[in-house]
Amino acid sequence: MAGEHDTIVVIEDDHNISDLVAMYLRKDGFRVLQADDGERGLELFDQDPPKLLIIDIGLPGALDGLDVCRRVRATSDVPVIMLTARDDEFDRVRGLELGADDYVTKPFSARELVARVRAILRRAAPAPRDGPQVHEIGDLVVDTGRREVRGPGGPIAFTTREFDLLAYLASNRGLALSRRQLLDGVWGEGWYGDERTVDVHVRQLRKKLGDALPLTTVWGVGYRLG
Ligand code: CA
Repeated sequence: MAGEHDTIVVIEDDHNISDLVAMYLRKDGFRVLQADDGERGLELFDQDPPKLLIIDIGLPGALDGLDVCRRVRATSDVPVIMLTARDDEFDRVRGLELGADDYVTKPFSARELVARVRAILRRAAPAPRDGPQVHEIGDLVVDTGRREVRGPGGPIAFTTREFDLLAYLASNRGLALSRRQLLDGVWGEGWYGDERTVDVHVRQLRKKLGDALPLTTVWGVGYRLG
């Protein structure tokens, strides 16, 4: 449940949309801070660390929504939902690559957005079901207690969702998992999003780990580790 003091920062230059989203979130018990450009949004984020950020991709001024997401991710794992002006595959993929947790395409219903906010907050920092585990995968060590991946050259940085995906694959080693199973296991069963989200995150894991990651694409199914 939303605590009375759970703050959400909404960065959106379209005041109609921003006010509508803020109204629904407030009705749901959240405290909402609104900014109409990226600089102001980052100020609010620094002053009063929120539980979640909603960031429109198309923002006026020097920083667009993707820039804001990148800067937030440089220091924080706070959940981020991006708003995209249209069904723009490039922006969506870029947002997810930069570490956004989810995206919503305009026009959207404020009620659905609030449902997604709730789903994301429910699954934020999930406790591993079987307590902390250390998985050894070839030269990699995935340590769920420390939330750390170590390779031969030392720790490797991952976003929250990338780490959760790798840990989930590691704890189901040898099993072919469908994209749906991965979404349910990593993003949570209330997740509304698109199965391609899994592919974007897998691409990031492969980019960061290269040949050290024995991950196989199982055609018509999904992915299998080891
Ligand atoms: Ca905009």
